[in-house]
Amino acid sequence: MANAWCMPGGKIAVYTGLLKITKNTNALSVVMGHEIAHAVAKHSVERMSHAITLNVGTQIADVFLGGAINRTRQTIGSNTGFDIFKLGIMNPFGRKQETEADYMGLIFSSLSGYDIRESVKLWERMAEKNKGKEPPQFLSTHPSSKNRIKNLQGWMDEVIIKYPPIKA
Ligand SMILES: [Zn+2]
Repeated sequence: MANAWCMPGGKIAVYTGLLKITKNTNALSVVMGHEIAHAVAKHSVERMSHAITLNVGTQIADVFLGGAINRTRQTIGSNTGFDIFKLGIMNPFGRKQETEADYMGLIFSSLSGYDIRESVKLWERMAEKNKGKEPPQFLSTHPSSKNRIKNLQGWMDEVIIKYPPIKA
């Protein structure tokens, strides 16, 4: 299992399986920075309140549509195993948070004195590991590795210059 996540309350869990991909502390700092950013930005709270709004909103809409949303949800769910509430509707929101966490994470990592250029190599290794398994971007809450790497490369120089290591 190669994963890391931020628990409500701000504790961060890293699976040892992920260490095979991070390989070094620079890459691990990018992962930690990303998860810390979720905690700092209170994304889990945002996500929860968004989910509640979404549920109430779609329930009201479905009354007018005579249950069409729920029927579609069940049909797609039984055919593909995916829940459209989590995929189609939740995702644009999830991806925005992921991109935000990537950007803030780079800053935290750079401030802490790590070499953030490793972030690109980290996501290349991740893509290599997930080869053939990577779902199309619209199916995933995470940006595709290609978009992610493109973003990181775009931010790299600016972050290195604007957020140099803090000397303790
Ligand atoms: Zn994330």
